[in-house]
Amino acid sequence: MGNGEIKKTVVLKGVGVSPGIAKGQVHLLNCQEFTTSYYKLDTKTLVAKEVKRFRDALKASNRELLDIKERISAKEGIEPIFIDIHIMILKDKMFIRETIENIRERRVNAEWAVKLTLTKYRALFQKMDDEYLRERVNDVEYVGERVLRNLSGKTCEKISDIDEAVIIIARDLSPADTIQINAEKVLGFATDMGGKTSHTAIVARSLEIPAVVGLENVTREIKAGDLVIVDGSAGVVIINPDPEVLKRYDDKQKHYRIIEEDLIRSAALPAVTGDRHRVRIGANIEFAEEIPSAVSHGTDGVGLYRTEFIYVNKERLPTEEEHFLNYKRVVSDPGLEWATIRTFDLGGDKFVSDPRLAEEMNPAMGLRAIRFCLREIDLFKVQLRAILRASVHGKTKILFPMISGVAEIRDAKKILCDVKAELCAEGVPIDENIEIGIMIEVPSAVMMADVLAREVDFFSIGTNDLIQYSLAIDRVNERVTYLYEPLHPAILRLLKRVVDAGHEAGINVAMCGEMAGEPYYALILLGLGIDELSMTPLAIPRMKKIIRESTVSESKELLNTVMSFSMVKESEEFVRAYMIKRFPENFPANNVPYR
Ligand code: PEP
Ligand code: MG
Repeated sequence: MGNGEIKKTVVLKGVGVSPGIAKGQVHLLNCQEFTTSYYKLDTKTLVAKEVKRFRDALKASNRELLDIKERISAKEGIEPIFIDIHIMILKDKMFIRETIENIRERRVNAEWAVKLTLTKYRALFQKMDDEYLRERVNDVEYVGERVLRNLSGKTCEKISDIDEAVIIIARDLSPADTIQINAEKVLGFATDMGGKTSHTAIVARSLEIPAVVGLENVTREIKAGDLVIVDGSAGVVIINPDPEVLKRYDDKQKHYRIIEEDLIRSAALPAVTGDRHRVRIGANIEFAEEIPSAVSHGTDGVGLYRTEFIYVNKERLPTEEEHFLNYKRVVSDPGLEWATIRTFDLGGDKFVSDPRLAEEMNPAMGLRAIRFCLREIDLFKVQLRAILRASVHGKTKILFPMISGVAEIRDAKKILCDVKAELCAEGVPIDENIEIGIMIEVPSAVMMADVLAREVDFFSIGTNDLIQYSLAIDRVNERVTYLYEPLHPAILRLLKRVVDAGHEAGINVAMCGEMAGEPYYALILLGLGIDELSMTPLAIPRMKKIIRESTVSESKELLNTVMSFSMVKESEEFVRAYMIKRFPENFPANNVPYR
């Protein structure tokens, strides 16, 4: 590029996975390209040689992962669980067997055999109806890529060596790469690949650096030395912004920093309204690694620990000890007042390998969650034993998902009782008074809330499923997402019914669906009288701030007005306009929330 030549501005839209704005010089991650070769093996010796090459590549990959794990543990004092998950995939019998069979039976080289295995995994995961679980295929892909790289002998620049104030641009970053980023120096990152719920996204959020993934061709569009803006809040990357855009983003960045600093500064303050009503704030987590970030964002406890990940990507079911170690780590964290562990919420085609879970026509309404557990009692007991054992290490609550009627919770409680008795007989200490709650996410549970409330210590409303089942909207079908409306009059009535029934019976009512973390709905939730709001950790500071600046009486008034509307459009418009006027700095004019 000649002197003074103006570089073309390119704007790319991807998925913002870690909020904030970063601006700086590009650092294109230098990885030697490699292609997956294909050749036929025509002698037995060659077959044996390929199997050995594959096994050596597995060993080399294992060494690399152990090395990263050791470095991270020494530096950060944490044990990154996903590295263990990657190591487990490397040792996964199905992964190894499948690849070796490909080499032996199809007589192809190791690279091609790995590629065939990955294609099979991809197809298996693609069939899953849950986006979160579908994206777990990324972990298998990262492991496959590492093995392929080791087979190819090609190397990649060490990400931990980058210690300049740059923005890293890469085709893809595995969580193992991401966790090695020197977050004190590196300003942000952007990648071609990746999705919203990937481990990489979770790690990026815990590092608190802006990141955008899934840009498809950022590595092609960008050159070393380019200036780039990464807007992790809007999911946008701007390459070589013109001076006007640069100025706009400078202002936005300054504004973001002020708000951010203000929010983080006050994040530890409790969520107490002007008229002295306290709302407990919980974090929704999927991995223990998320706890430090949740605590620094001001969470009081863990309101929803989705334990599903302990089960996926496995050829065999997790052992009691594996469960126990995960739970102990979460409940014993000194930064948390409590941790609510939700039991197994999977089923249908979400298990890769357990034959007991056959494919279903309509998995969202199939043999899943508590229904599956009540059928497969031994499997359920393993998890319950582990939760009860962990309960002496910190305040633990148990949450049963997808309860649709009284019989289910009674059956679940009976099994819990049996497990308690078994543990007591074995002399294993447990918290005898562990609190038991149910997710209210099936409309029939709402109708039965008054009766169900007498069975449990708390309710937790799962709006994601409750909206799906009540409004008949498939939550993973993009064509109907426009109908997914928490302020639908029917939903507001359902929510009110649950809270009132819970309070009449003297139990607490929490909410842990996405609605609980949406700042626009803060006053509606306060008006409803929800006792605990549990949300994605990054949403906490803003929610707490709005609650602190509100009163219950004003919230009740707003709720009453909104409940008098008969159409969702009216409710949405009214609430949005009210909140923007009432909390202008929390809802910027361009309507793109910073968090
Ligand atoms: C819900 O349904 O609102 C919920 C919190 O559970 P999940 O999103 O895990 O189904
Ligand atoms: Mg749910």
